[in-house]
Formats: sequence, C-alpha cells, structure tokens
Amino acid sequence: PLPVVAVVGRPNVGKSTLVNRILGRRAAVVEDVPGVTRDRVAYETAWAGRAFTLLDTGGWNPDAQGMAARITEQAEMAVATADVVIFVVDSVVGATDADESVVRVLRRSGKPVVLAANKVDGPSGEADAAALWNLGLGEPHAVSALHGRGSGDLLDAVLDAL
Ligand code: GDP
Ligand code: MG
Repeated sequence: PLPVVAVVGRPNVGKSTLVNRILGRRAAVVEDVPGVTRDRVAYETAWAGRAFTLLDTGGWNPDAQGMAARITEQAEMAVATADVVIFVVDSVVGATDADESVVRVLRRSGKPVVLAANKVDGPSGEADAAALWNLGLGEPHAVSALHGRGSGDLLDAVLDAL
C-alpha cells in the first residue's frame, strides 16, 4: 500500500484547495461556504517520482454545536491512518483555539507533522506565517494553495518526513 499523507485542519483554512494544488487538477470540492468536503476523500498522486495517497478531510458543519469535538474527532481519524500529516493553518487569521485543539491531537499521535501556513498570497504574508512558529510544530511552510506559492517546498518537506 502507498504511504498516506493526511491533510488536516479546521474548516475553511484551504485544505481542499491545497489538495487540488497537489493533484494539479480540480478534484477536491472547494467552497466559500465551509464544511463542504464530505468526511474523508483519498486520492492517489505523486511528487518527485514518489507515489502516495493524499487524504482530504472535513465535512462537518462549523456552525453546529460541538465543532471543536468534531474537528478533534476528524483529526484523530485522519492521523490514525496517516504516515505524515500536513496541518493547514490560515496564516491570515492566525492560530485559533480550534487549531490548538488539533495541535494537541497531533502531538499525542507522535506522527510527523508538516505545518502549512496557508493563504500567504504574497511576500507581505510571510510575517503571518512566521508567527505560527508559536504552535511549537517546527517551521511553518508559507504557502498559497490558491496561487501555488510555496507548494513545491511544502511537498519536499512532506517527502522528507515520509
Ligand atoms: P477547507 O474547508 O479547509 O477545505 O477550505 P477550502 O479549500 O474549501 O477553502 C476555503 C476558502 O479559502 C475558499 O474560498 C478558498 O478559495 C480560500 N483559500 C484557500 N486557499 C487560499 C489561499 O492560499 N489564499 C487565499 N487568499 N484564499 C485561499
Ligand atoms: Mg475542504
């Protein structure tokens, strides 16, 4: 079986957009309304000649009660099957309580985590990305899933962690 790379994070941070960027096609469902991705969706893909399964996650209604619990549950399921986790944070918004609860799940799992500081659409966003060092997960990899900025370096880091 191929190694599994799971993309986790709270709703609307750009997980599905990043998955599409990595796949190089529109396969994952991206919506301005958060919560569209159904549960977990797996795609087979490759980078630098190495094949892996990419797992997109999501699917809860962020307005529902108990969102933090649902995010934690989703992250736990994804992390359990993952060899490496891409943890996506919206660097414009910064780290929220929901992000912090995902961090706790990731720490407990002991799995390698690559931190994606998403929505860094231009050089002015680099400072926002650097602020995410505070999460204690190592280097925040500044990316713009929307425009492709930094996605190659992110994938190199993912393969290094595999
Ligand atoms: P998900 O819920 O984490 O899967 O997030 P989506 O991929 O559905 O994206 C949520 C919203 O964020 C959409 O409106 C995306 O277009 C937007 N988005 C995603 N990545 C970026 C990015 O790098 N820059 C900007 N400006 N917007 C982004
Ligand atoms: Mg999604």
